[in-house]
Amino acid sequence: MPGRWSATEFEESMTRIAFFGLGAMGAPMASHLAASGLDVTGVDVDPDARSRFSGAVSPAEAELGAADLFITMLPEGENVRDAYERWILGAAHAGAVLIDCSTIDVETARSLNAAASKRGLNQVDAPVSGGPEAAGSGGLSLMVGGRDADVALARPVLVALGAKITHFGAPGSGQAAKACHNMICGITAMAVLEGFALAEALGLDLAQFYQLCAGAAAQSWTLENRCPIPGVVPEAPASKGYAPGFAARLMAKDLRLAQAASEAARQPAPFGAEAARAFSAFAEATGGNLDFSSYYTRLRVQPDDTGNDRQ
Ligand code: NAD
Repeated sequence: MPGRWSATEFEESMTRIAFFGLGAMGAPMASHLAASGLDVTGVDVDPDARSRFSGAVSPAEAELGAADLFITMLPEGENVRDAYERWILGAAHAGAVLIDCSTIDVETARSLNAAASKRGLNQVDAPVSGGPEAAGSGGLSLMVGGRDADVALARPVLVALGAKITHFGAPGSGQAAKACHNMICGITAMAVLEGFALAEALGLDLAQFYQLCAGAAAQSWTLENRCPIPGVVPEAPASKGYAPGFAARLMAKDLRLAQAASEAARQPAPFGAEAARAFSAFAEATGGNLDFSSYYTRLRVQPDDTGNDRQ
């Protein structure tokens, strides 16, 4: 990745990366690092996911002892714990760097950091904001938690992955920031989807309504990147059959993580709770594999068979 950071700094200490999780985000992130000239081995339990990254292997096939740096980009805390406990902690050589970019709960992040530190490994949590597009171009925002020395070791790769790196503090603080950030995104998503459902029900031209919002106070990342109306934003998931993007099941998971954090901190977040309930019910009913903006299709009241426009 020309221009952003010096590969020399990285090559002096570590060159071989094992990248766990080649899903919607992991595959473009791993490809971006490989295109930047780094030696990346893709690792995934799913053969379909392995087909997204040249030379990818299963965890059992990977030569993990040869890796200097491990990146995990997995769905949930239990997946990261599984990858760490079954494969990574036992195989990594002393001094290796572990970066967890998955979005997981703060407690799991802290306990995995403690387990890694006990083995002489340098571990940071670095969940990301930005979709697959940003993942493939090094344009993510990373929220980082970890000891200063560990973050310094991870920094060259963090900078390769992201346009904006914010180190919040101790291990787990990246996940804390991510929970709050995604709660804002989830509530905003509900607002955008409801706003368009009402605009459609009121007979507005939705392309015109989109242009109005994009240039007015209702503007947001969700509006511009996840507009739920097919054809209005050509690159948005809605224009591609709601292919993710950010799967509804992951949005539901992130909102539940924010609720867990809200309960632990005894700071109520009622709008976040409602968004968590709505996306969780939708993901449970549909499998939640389409982009979260597909919730629009459930939200929008369809004309009934009497010919009335509203139910
Ligand atoms: P995904 O479900 O598309 O991909 C996850 C991959 O991990 C799958 O290919 C799965 O087979 C693999 N996997 C699961 N357990 C594994 C294990 N033990 N070892 C190796 N591979 C394993 O998920 P995604 O959309 O890429 O998201 C990954 C993480 O990033 C999630 O925590 C998500 O919340 C977060 N995130 C996603 C987005 C987005 O837009 N998709 C944006 C920001 C953050």
